[in-house]
Amino acid sequence: MENLTMEKIVNLCKQYGFVFPGSEIYDGFANTWDFGPVGNELKKNIKNAWWKRFVQEDMNTYGVDASILMNPKVWEASGHVASFSDPKMDCKKCKQRFRADNLIEEFDSTVAAEGMTNEEMEKFIDDNNIKCPNCGSKDWSEIKQFKLMFETSRGTVEGNKDSVYLRPETCQGEYVNFLNVQRTARAKIPFAIAQIGKSFRNEITPGNFLFRTIEFEQMELQKFCKEDDSFNIYEDYKKRALEFVKDLGLDADKLRYHDHDKLAHYAKAACDIQYKFPIGWEELNGIHHRGTWDLSRHSEFSGKSMEYLDPETNEKYIPNVIEYSIGADRLTLAILCNSYEEETLENDTREVMHFHPAIAPYKVAILPLVKKYHTDKAKEVFNMLSKYFMCTYDETGSIGKRYRREDVIGTPYCITIDDETLNNNTVTIRDRDTMNQITLSLDDVKDYIEDKIRF
Ligand code: ATP
Repeated sequence: MENLTMEKIVNLCKQYGFVFPGSEIYDGFANTWDFGPVGNELKKNIKNAWWKRFVQEDMNTYGVDASILMNPKVWEASGHVASFSDPKMDCKKCKQRFRADNLIEEFDSTVAAEGMTNEEMEKFIDDNNIKCPNCGSKDWSEIKQFKLMFETSRGTVEGNKDSVYLRPETCQGEYVNFLNVQRTARAKIPFAIAQIGKSFRNEITPGNFLFRTIEFEQMELQKFCKEDDSFNIYEDYKKRALEFVKDLGLDADKLRYHDHDKLAHYAKAACDIQYKFPIGWEELNGIHHRGTWDLSRHSEFSGKSMEYLDPETNEKYIPNVIEYSIGADRLTLAILCNSYEEETLENDTREVMHFHPAIAPYKVAILPLVKKYHTDKAKEVFNMLSKYFMCTYDETGSIGKRYRREDVIGTPYCITIDDETLNNNTVTIRDRDTMNQITLSLDDVKDYIEDKIRF
Protein backbone atom coordinates (compact mmCIF):
# COMPACT_ATOMS: atom_id res chain seq x y z
CA MET A 1 0.00 0.00 0.00
CA GLU A 2 1.30 3.49 -0.86
CA ASN A 3 1.78 5.93 2.06
CA LEU A 4 2.01 3.10 4.56
CA THR A 5 3.78 4.24 7.72
CA MET A 6 5.86 2.15 10.08
CA GLU A 7 3.61 3.32 12.92
CA LYS A 8 0.58 1.84 11.19
CA ILE A 9 2.31 -1.53 10.80
CA VAL A 10 3.55 -1.53 14.40
CA ASN A 11 0.02 -0.85 15.71
CA LEU A 12 -1.57 -3.40 13.44
CA CYS A 13 0.97 -6.03 14.48
CA LYS A 14 0.21 -5.38 18.12
CA GLN A 15 -3.54 -5.35 17.64
CA TYR A 16 -3.78 -8.64 15.75
CA GLY A 17 -1.11 -10.67 17.50
CA PHE A 18 1.75 -10.51 15.01
CA VAL A 19 4.35 -8.75 17.17
CA PHE A 20 4.28 -7.27 20.67
CA PRO A 21 6.81 -4.94 22.31
CA GLY A 22 9.28 -7.05 24.35
CA SER A 23 8.65 -7.21 28.15
CA GLU A 24 5.66 -4.92 27.69
CA ILE A 25 4.23 -5.19 31.23
CA TYR A 26 7.53 -3.70 32.47
CA ASP A 27 7.14 -0.80 30.02
CA GLY A 28 9.05 -2.73 27.41
CA PHE A 29 12.74 -3.17 26.68
CA ALA A 30 13.82 -0.95 23.82
CA ASN A 31 14.31 -2.61 20.44
CA THR A 32 13.21 -6.06 21.48
CA TRP A 33 10.03 -7.55 20.06
CA ASP A 34 8.06 -10.72 20.80
CA PHE A 35 6.30 -12.56 18.02
CA GLY A 36 2.70 -13.38 18.94
CA PRO A 37 0.52 -16.29 17.77
CA VAL A 38 0.17 -15.17 14.15
CA GLY A 39 3.55 -13.45 13.79
CA ASN A 40 5.32 -16.53 15.09
CA GLU A 41 3.62 -18.68 12.45
CA LEU A 42 4.40 -16.16 9.73
CA LYS A 43 8.10 -15.94 10.58
CA LYS A 44 8.38 -19.71 10.97
CA ASN A 45 6.79 -20.21 7.54
CA ILE A 46 9.18 -17.68 6.00
CA LYS A 47 12.13 -19.55 7.51
CA ASN A 48 10.72 -22.86 6.26
CA ALA A 49 10.26 -21.44 2.75
CA TRP A 50 13.87 -20.23 2.76
CA TRP A 51 15.13 -23.58 4.05
CA LYS A 52 13.10 -25.48 1.45
CA ARG A 53 14.36 -23.33 -1.42
CA PHE A 54 18.03 -23.13 -0.45
CA VAL A 55 18.69 -26.35 1.49
CA GLN A 56 16.06 -28.99 0.75
CA GLU A 57 15.97 -28.32 -3.00
CA ASP A 58 19.73 -27.99 -3.33
CA MET A 59 21.59 -31.29 -3.47
CA ASN A 60 24.84 -29.63 -2.41
CA THR A 61 23.73 -27.67 0.61
CA TYR A 62 23.87 -29.02 4.15
CA GLY A 63 22.24 -27.51 7.21
CA VAL A 64 23.72 -27.05 10.67
CA ASP A 65 22.56 -25.60 13.97
CA ALA A 66 25.66 -24.30 15.74
CA SER A 67 26.05 -22.89 19.24
CA ILE A 68 25.42 -19.24 19.94
CA LEU A 69 28.32 -19.22 22.41
CA MET A 70 31.59 -20.07 20.73
CA ASN A 71 35.21 -20.26 21.76
CA PRO A 72 36.28 -16.58 22.08
CA LYS A 73 39.19 -17.30 19.71
CA VAL A 74 36.61 -17.57 16.91
CA TRP A 75 35.94 -13.85 17.28
CA GLU A 76 39.65 -13.05 17.29
CA ALA A 77 40.09 -15.00 14.07
CA SER A 78 37.06 -13.38 12.47
CA GLY A 79 38.37 -9.90 13.30
CA HIS A 80 35.35 -9.02 15.47
CA VAL A 81 37.29 -8.57 18.73
CA ALA A 82 39.63 -6.08 17.09
CA SER A 83 37.29 -4.22 14.83
CA PHE A 84 33.58 -4.97 15.15
CA SER A 85 32.71 -1.51 16.36
CA ASP A 86 31.09 1.63 15.01
CA PRO A 87 32.13 5.27 15.52
CA LYS A 88 29.68 6.68 18.05
CA MET A 89 29.00 10.36 18.57
CA ASP A 90 26.58 11.94 21.05
CA CYS A 91 24.75 15.24 20.76
CA LYS A 92 25.52 16.89 24.12
CA LYS A 93 22.36 18.99 23.93
CA CYS A 94 19.58 16.45 23.24
CA LYS A 95 21.65 13.37 24.22
CA GLN A 96 20.78 11.52 21.01
CA ARG A 97 23.38 9.05 19.81
CA PHE A 98 24.53 8.79 16.19
CA ARG A 99 26.96 6.90 14.04
CA ALA A 100 29.49 9.46 12.83
CA ASP A 101 30.01 7.64 9.51
CA ASN A 102 26.24 7.74 8.85
CA LEU A 103 26.08 11.47 9.62
CA ILE A 104 28.85 12.10 7.11
CA GLU A 105 27.44 9.86 4.38
CA GLU A 106 23.96 11.31 4.80
CA PHE A 107 25.50 14.78 4.42
CA ASP A 108 27.52 13.83 1.33
CA SER A 109 26.86 10.44 -0.27
CA THR A 110 30.08 10.64 -2.33
CA VAL A 111 32.26 10.48 0.79
CA ALA A 112 33.46 7.07 2.00
CA ALA A 113 33.43 7.59 5.77
CA GLU A 114 34.19 3.94 6.45
CA GLY A 115 37.84 4.48 5.55
CA MET A 116 38.30 7.60 7.74
CA THR A 117 39.93 7.77 11.17
CA ASN A 118 37.98 9.22 14.11
CA GLU A 119 40.03 12.43 13.87
CA GLU A 120 39.30 12.75 10.14
CA MET A 121 35.58 12.26 10.77
CA GLU A 122 35.56 14.86 13.58
CA LYS A 123 37.33 17.33 11.30
CA PHE A 124 34.90 16.67 8.43
CA ILE A 125 31.88 17.18 10.70
CA ASP A 126 33.39 20.39 12.07
CA ASP A 127 34.50 21.79 8.68
CA ASN A 128 31.08 21.12 7.18
CA ASN A 129 29.07 22.36 10.14
CA ILE A 130 27.08 19.13 10.35
CA LYS A 131 24.28 19.60 12.86
CA CYS A 132 22.39 17.14 15.05
CA PRO A 133 19.51 15.83 12.88
CA ASN A 134 17.33 15.78 16.00
CA CYS A 135 17.81 19.22 17.61
CA GLY A 136 20.04 21.19 15.22
CA SER A 137 22.83 21.69 17.75
CA LYS A 138 26.53 21.44 16.84
CA ASP A 139 27.64 20.52 20.33
CA TRP A 140 29.12 17.09 19.60
CA SER A 141 30.98 14.73 21.90
CA GLU A 142 34.23 13.29 20.62
CA ILE A 143 33.92 10.13 18.53
CA LYS A 144 34.48 6.85 20.32
CA GLN A 145 34.54 3.36 18.88
CA PHE A 146 31.50 1.53 20.22
CA LYS A 147 31.80 -2.25 20.48
CA LEU A 148 28.91 -4.06 18.84
CA MET A 149 29.40 -7.49 20.38
CA PHE A 150 27.49 -8.31 23.56
CA GLU A 151 30.03 -9.58 26.04
CA THR A 152 29.31 -11.79 29.00
CA SER A 153 31.48 -13.95 31.22
CA ARG A 154 31.90 -17.61 31.89
CA GLY A 155 33.57 -19.02 34.99
CA THR A 156 32.65 -20.57 38.27
CA VAL A 157 35.28 -18.87 40.44
CA GLU A 158 34.66 -15.21 41.26
CA GLY A 159 37.37 -13.01 39.79
CA ASN A 160 38.47 -15.71 37.41
CA LYS A 161 36.07 -15.26 34.57
CA ASP A 162 36.63 -15.43 30.85
CA SER A 163 34.87 -13.17 28.42
CA VAL A 164 32.52 -14.86 26.01
CA TYR A 165 30.40 -13.24 23.35
CA LEU A 166 26.87 -13.67 22.07
CA ARG A 167 27.51 -14.34 18.39
CA PRO A 168 27.01 -11.24 16.23
CA GLU A 169 26.64 -13.37 13.08
CA THR A 170 25.76 -17.00 12.47
CA CYS A 171 28.23 -17.73 9.67
CA GLN A 172 31.18 -18.50 11.97
CA GLY A 173 29.26 -21.66 12.94
CA GLU A 174 29.61 -22.83 9.36
CA TYR A 175 33.28 -21.93 8.99
CA VAL A 176 34.30 -23.79 12.14
CA ASN A 177 32.33 -26.84 10.94
CA PHE A 178 33.65 -26.78 7.39
CA LEU A 179 35.86 -29.84 7.93
CA ASN A 180 33.20 -31.75 9.91
CA VAL A 181 30.49 -31.26 7.34
CA GLN A 182 32.75 -31.90 4.37
CA ARG A 183 33.94 -35.19 5.89
CA THR A 184 30.62 -36.54 7.18
CA ALA A 185 28.55 -35.52 4.17
CA ARG A 186 31.38 -36.57 1.82
CA ALA A 187 30.74 -33.22 0.20
CA LYS A 188 32.56 -32.21 -2.95
CA ILE A 189 33.30 -28.63 -3.75
CA PRO A 190 31.29 -26.59 -4.63
CA PHE A 191 29.00 -27.15 -1.64
CA ALA A 192 27.29 -24.93 0.90
CA ILE A 193 26.59 -25.02 4.61
CA ALA A 194 23.43 -23.26 5.73
CA GLN A 195 22.04 -22.17 9.04
CA ILE A 196 19.14 -20.25 10.55
CA GLY A 197 19.73 -18.81 13.99
CA LYS A 198 19.86 -15.90 16.37
CA SER A 199 22.49 -13.18 16.29
CA PHE A 200 23.02 -10.31 18.69
CA ARG A 201 24.41 -6.85 18.04
CA ASN A 202 24.65 -3.93 20.40
CA GLU A 203 23.58 -1.57 17.61
CA ILE A 204 24.16 2.17 18.13
CA THR A 205 21.07 3.16 16.22
CA PRO A 206 18.56 0.34 16.50
CA GLY A 207 14.96 1.07 15.63
CA ASN A 208 12.34 1.12 12.92
CA PHE A 209 10.51 -1.80 14.43
CA LEU A 210 11.91 -5.15 13.23
CA PHE A 211 14.30 -3.49 10.80
CA ARG A 212 17.22 -3.06 13.17
CA THR A 213 17.06 -4.79 16.52
CA ILE A 214 19.65 -5.94 19.02
CA GLU A 215 18.60 -9.60 18.76
CA PHE A 216 17.55 -11.03 15.40
CA GLU A 217 17.56 -14.15 13.27
CA GLN A 218 19.70 -14.71 10.22
CA MET A 219 19.07 -17.17 7.42
CA GLU A 220 22.33 -17.64 5.60
CA LEU A 221 24.57 -19.97 3.73
CA GLN A 222 28.22 -20.13 2.88
CA LYS A 223 29.14 -21.70 -0.43
CA PHE A 224 32.65 -23.13 -0.57
CA CYS A 225 34.09 -23.10 -4.06
CA LYS A 226 37.08 -22.89 -6.35
CA GLU A 227 38.26 -19.43 -7.22
CA ASP A 228 37.63 -20.06 -10.95
CA ASP A 229 33.93 -20.76 -10.30
CA SER A 230 33.44 -18.19 -7.57
CA PHE A 231 32.17 -15.23 -9.60
CA ASN A 232 29.60 -17.38 -11.44
CA ILE A 233 28.38 -18.71 -8.10
CA TYR A 234 28.23 -15.16 -6.73
CA GLU A 235 26.10 -14.04 -9.70
CA ASP A 236 23.92 -17.12 -9.36
CA TYR A 237 23.11 -16.35 -5.70
CA LYS A 238 22.34 -12.74 -6.60
CA LYS A 239 19.71 -14.07 -9.02
CA ARG A 240 18.37 -16.76 -6.70
CA ALA A 241 18.12 -14.36 -3.75
CA LEU A 242 16.03 -11.94 -5.81
CA GLU A 243 13.83 -14.70 -7.23
CA PHE A 244 13.17 -16.01 -3.74
CA VAL A 245 11.82 -12.74 -2.35
CA LYS A 246 9.78 -12.12 -5.50
CA ASP A 247 8.29 -15.62 -5.27
CA LEU A 248 7.38 -14.90 -1.64
CA GLY A 249 5.33 -11.99 -2.92
CA LEU A 250 7.49 -8.87 -2.64
CA ASP A 251 6.71 -6.46 -5.51
CA ALA A 252 9.40 -6.36 -8.19
CA ASP A 253 9.30 -2.55 -8.36
CA LYS A 254 10.15 -2.38 -4.65
CA LEU A 255 13.29 -4.46 -5.05
CA ARG A 256 16.68 -3.54 -6.47
CA TYR A 257 20.32 -4.59 -6.41
CA HIS A 258 22.83 -2.34 -4.73
CA ASP A 259 26.39 -3.25 -5.70
CA HIS A 260 28.99 -2.04 -3.23
CA ASP A 261 31.76 0.28 -4.40
CA LYS A 262 33.53 0.15 -1.06
CA LEU A 263 34.60 -3.36 -0.13
CA ALA A 264 35.98 -4.89 3.06
CA HIS A 265 39.73 -5.44 2.59
CA TYR A 266 39.32 -9.19 2.03
CA ALA A 267 36.16 -9.07 -0.13
CA LYS A 268 36.17 -9.48 -3.89
CA ALA A 269 32.59 -8.34 -4.52
CA ALA A 270 29.50 -7.45 -2.50
CA CYS A 271 25.90 -6.67 -3.29
CA ASP A 272 22.76 -6.03 -1.27
CA ILE A 273 19.21 -6.50 -2.34
CA GLN A 274 17.29 -3.49 -1.15
CA TYR A 275 13.58 -3.24 -0.48
CA LYS A 276 11.55 -0.05 -0.44
CA PHE A 277 10.42 -0.04 3.19
CA PRO A 278 8.14 2.76 4.50
CA ILE A 279 11.43 4.35 5.71
CA GLY A 280 12.91 4.23 2.19
CA TRP A 281 15.23 1.91 0.26
CA GLU A 282 17.15 -0.24 2.72
CA GLU A 283 19.17 -3.44 2.75
CA LEU A 284 17.14 -6.63 2.87
CA ASN A 285 19.96 -9.10 2.35
CA GLY A 286 23.60 -9.31 1.41
CA ILE A 287 25.56 -11.46 -1.04
CA HIS A 288 29.30 -11.31 -0.47
CA HIS A 289 32.34 -12.80 -2.17
CA ARG A 290 34.64 -13.28 0.82
CA GLY A 291 37.61 -14.88 -0.94
CA THR A 292 39.65 -17.23 1.25
CA TRP A 293 39.68 -14.85 4.24
CA ASP A 294 37.50 -16.80 6.68
CA LEU A 295 38.97 -20.25 6.28
CA SER A 296 42.54 -18.89 6.13
CA ARG A 297 42.05 -16.99 9.37
CA HIS A 298 40.58 -20.03 11.13
CA SER A 299 43.46 -22.10 9.85
CA GLU A 300 45.91 -19.59 11.26
CA PHE A 301 44.21 -19.17 14.66
CA SER A 302 43.24 -22.81 15.28
CA GLY A 303 46.34 -24.40 13.76
CA LYS A 304 44.10 -26.81 11.77
CA SER A 305 44.44 -27.00 8.04
CA MET A 306 41.30 -25.85 6.27
CA GLU A 307 42.51 -27.08 2.91
CA TYR A 308 40.33 -29.12 0.65
CA LEU A 309 41.79 -32.03 -1.28
CA ASP A 310 40.21 -32.33 -4.69
CA PRO A 311 39.63 -36.09 -5.13
CA GLU A 312 39.83 -35.85 -8.93
CA THR A 313 42.85 -33.63 -9.45
CA ASN A 314 44.61 -34.17 -6.11
CA GLU A 315 44.89 -30.41 -5.89
CA LYS A 316 44.92 -28.95 -2.34
CA TYR A 317 43.57 -25.48 -1.72
CA ILE A 318 41.65 -23.24 0.67
CA PRO A 319 38.22 -22.70 -0.87
CA ASN A 320 36.71 -19.31 -1.66
CA VAL A 321 33.47 -18.43 0.10
CA ILE A 322 30.31 -16.87 -1.28
CA GLU A 323 27.98 -15.76 1.49
CA TYR A 324 24.26 -15.13 1.15
CA SER A 325 22.61 -13.78 4.28
CA ILE A 326 19.12 -12.46 4.97
CA GLY A 327 17.47 -11.39 8.22
CA ALA A 328 14.33 -13.38 9.03
CA ASP A 329 12.86 -10.50 11.04
CA ARG A 330 13.73 -7.91 8.41
CA LEU A 331 12.18 -10.07 5.69
CA THR A 332 9.08 -10.57 7.87
CA LEU A 333 8.80 -6.79 8.14
CA ALA A 334 9.10 -6.42 4.35
CA ILE A 335 6.42 -9.08 3.83
CA LEU A 336 4.09 -7.37 6.33
CA CYS A 337 4.54 -3.98 4.63
CA ASN A 338 4.17 -5.43 1.14
CA SER A 339 1.10 -7.53 1.92
CA TYR A 340 -1.03 -4.96 3.70
CA GLU A 341 -3.94 -3.35 1.87
CA GLU A 342 -6.87 -1.17 2.88
CA GLU A 343 -9.31 -2.18 0.22
CA THR A 344 -12.39 -0.22 -0.74
CA LEU A 345 -15.32 -2.49 -1.50
CA GLU A 346 -18.75 -1.59 -2.88
CA ASN A 347 -20.35 -0.77 0.47
CA ASP A 348 -17.48 -1.36 2.82
CA THR A 349 -13.73 -1.30 3.36
CA ARG A 350 -11.54 -4.07 4.59
CA GLU A 351 -7.99 -4.53 5.83
CA VAL A 352 -6.29 -7.49 4.26
CA MET A 353 -2.88 -9.13 4.33
CA HIS A 354 -2.20 -10.68 0.93
CA PHE A 355 0.38 -13.21 2.13
CA HIS A 356 1.46 -15.97 -0.20
CA PRO A 357 -0.61 -18.95 1.11
CA ALA A 358 2.61 -20.85 1.87
CA ILE A 359 3.62 -18.33 4.53
CA ALA A 360 0.17 -17.30 5.81
CA PRO A 361 -0.04 -17.98 9.58
CA TYR A 362 -3.21 -20.06 9.21
CA LYS A 363 -4.03 -21.80 5.96
CA VAL A 364 -7.72 -22.15 6.68
CA ALA A 365 -10.28 -20.80 9.11
CA ILE A 366 -13.10 -23.14 9.99
CA LEU A 367 -16.32 -21.28 10.64
CA PRO A 368 -19.59 -22.94 11.74
CA LEU A 369 -22.39 -20.90 10.16
CA VAL A 370 -24.75 -21.23 13.14
CA LYS A 371 -23.08 -22.01 16.44
CA LYS A 372 -26.01 -24.03 17.75
CA TYR A 373 -26.22 -26.42 14.79
CA HIS A 374 -22.82 -26.60 13.15
CA THR A 375 -20.23 -26.51 15.93
CA ASP A 376 -19.73 -30.26 16.32
CA LYS A 377 -19.17 -30.83 12.64
CA ALA A 378 -16.88 -27.78 12.44
CA LYS A 379 -14.72 -29.13 15.28
CA GLU A 380 -14.55 -32.46 13.52
CA VAL A 381 -13.32 -30.69 10.38
CA PHE A 382 -10.76 -28.77 12.45
CA ASN A 383 -9.45 -32.02 13.95
CA MET A 384 -9.23 -33.57 10.51
CA LEU A 385 -7.46 -30.71 8.71
CA SER A 386 -5.18 -29.56 11.54
CA LYS A 387 -3.24 -32.80 11.12
CA TYR A 388 -1.96 -31.39 7.81
CA PHE A 389 -1.67 -27.61 8.22
CA MET A 390 -2.35 -24.76 10.66
CA CYS A 391 -6.07 -24.12 11.02
CA THR A 392 -7.99 -21.67 13.14
CA TYR A 393 -11.51 -21.95 14.42
CA ASP A 394 -13.96 -19.10 15.01
CA GLU A 395 -17.61 -19.37 16.02
CA THR A 396 -18.29 -15.85 17.32
CA GLY A 397 -19.95 -12.97 15.48
CA SER A 398 -21.55 -12.72 12.07
CA ILE A 399 -19.92 -14.58 9.22
CA GLY A 400 -19.00 -11.22 7.62
CA LYS A 401 -17.14 -10.09 10.75
CA ARG A 402 -15.36 -13.41 10.95
CA TYR A 403 -14.21 -13.07 7.31
CA ARG A 404 -12.79 -9.62 8.12
CA ARG A 405 -10.87 -10.99 11.11
CA GLU A 406 -9.32 -13.64 8.89
CA ASP A 407 -8.54 -11.14 6.10
CA VAL A 408 -6.42 -8.94 8.32
CA ILE A 409 -4.30 -11.84 9.56
CA GLY A 410 -4.00 -13.11 6.00
CA THR A 411 -5.84 -16.44 6.21
CA PRO A 412 -6.16 -17.43 2.53
CA TYR A 413 -9.19 -19.75 2.86
CA CYS A 414 -12.31 -19.70 5.03
CA ILE A 415 -14.35 -22.89 5.18
CA THR A 416 -17.96 -22.49 6.21
CA ILE A 417 -19.74 -25.43 7.80
CA ASP A 418 -23.51 -25.28 7.27
CA ASP A 419 -26.54 -27.53 6.70
CA GLU A 420 -25.12 -28.60 3.34
CA THR A 421 -22.13 -30.01 5.19
CA LEU A 422 -24.37 -32.00 7.52
CA ASN A 423 -26.61 -33.27 4.73
CA ASN A 424 -24.35 -33.55 1.67
CA ASN A 425 -20.82 -33.49 3.08
CA THR A 426 -19.97 -30.28 1.16
CA VAL A 427 -18.43 -27.02 2.36
CA THR A 428 -18.01 -23.56 0.89
CA ILE A 429 -14.47 -22.25 0.59
CA ARG A 430 -13.95 -18.50 0.36
CA ASP A 431 -10.81 -17.12 -1.22
CA ARG A 432 -9.27 -14.22 0.73
CA ASP A 433 -8.09 -12.20 -2.28
CA THR A 434 -11.01 -12.58 -4.70
CA MET A 435 -13.65 -13.15 -1.98
CA ASN A 436 -15.21 -15.71 -4.37
CA GLN A 437 -16.68 -18.88 -2.94
CA ILE A 438 -16.71 -22.39 -4.29
CA THR A 439 -18.44 -25.53 -3.04
CA LEU A 440 -16.37 -28.64 -2.52
CA SER A 441 -16.86 -32.10 -1.09
CA LEU A 442 -15.29 -32.34 2.35
CA ASP A 443 -13.27 -35.31 1.09
CA ASP A 444 -11.47 -33.07 -1.42
CA VAL A 445 -10.67 -30.15 0.88
CA LYS A 446 -7.30 -31.35 2.14
CA ASP A 447 -5.91 -31.91 -1.38
CA TYR A 448 -7.38 -28.64 -2.60
CA ILE A 449 -5.69 -26.63 0.17
CA GLU A 450 -2.41 -28.54 -0.04
CA ASP A 451 -2.22 -27.74 -3.71
CA LYS A 452 -2.77 -24.02 -3.04
CA ILE A 453 -0.22 -23.65 -0.24
CA ARG A 454 2.72 -25.20 -2.08
CA PHE A 455 5.85 -23.05 -2.42
P1 ATP B 1 23.73 -3.10 8.25
O1 ATP B 1 24.72 -2.48 7.30
O2 ATP B 1 22.28 -2.77 7.96
O3 ATP B 1 24.11 -2.97 9.69
P2 ATP B 1 25.06 -5.51 7.73
O4 ATP B 1 25.56 -5.23 6.36
O5 ATP B 1 25.95 -5.41 8.89
O6 ATP B 1 23.74 -4.65 8.00
P3 ATP B 1 25.06 -8.32 7.59
O7 ATP B 1 26.06 -8.47 8.65
O8 ATP B 1 25.47 -8.56 6.17
O9 ATP B 1 24.35 -6.91 7.74
O10 ATP B 1 23.80 -9.20 7.97
C1 ATP B 1 23.03 -9.88 7.02
C2 ATP B 1 21.55 -9.58 7.16
O11 ATP B 1 21.12 -9.69 8.52
C3 ATP B 1 21.16 -8.14 6.78
O12 ATP B 1 21.00 -8.04 5.39
C4 ATP B 1 19.85 -7.98 7.51
O13 ATP B 1 18.78 -8.58 6.79
C5 ATP B 1 20.08 -8.77 8.79
N1 ATP B 1 20.47 -7.87 9.89
C6 ATP B 1 21.70 -7.37 10.15
N2 ATP B 1 21.69 -6.60 11.25
C7 ATP B 1 20.41 -6.63 11.72
C8 ATP B 1 19.75 -6.03 12.84
N3 ATP B 1 20.41 -5.30 13.73
N4 ATP B 1 18.42 -6.26 12.99
C9 ATP B 1 17.74 -7.04 12.13
N5 ATP B 1 18.31 -7.63 11.06
C10 ATP B 1 19.63 -7.43 10.85
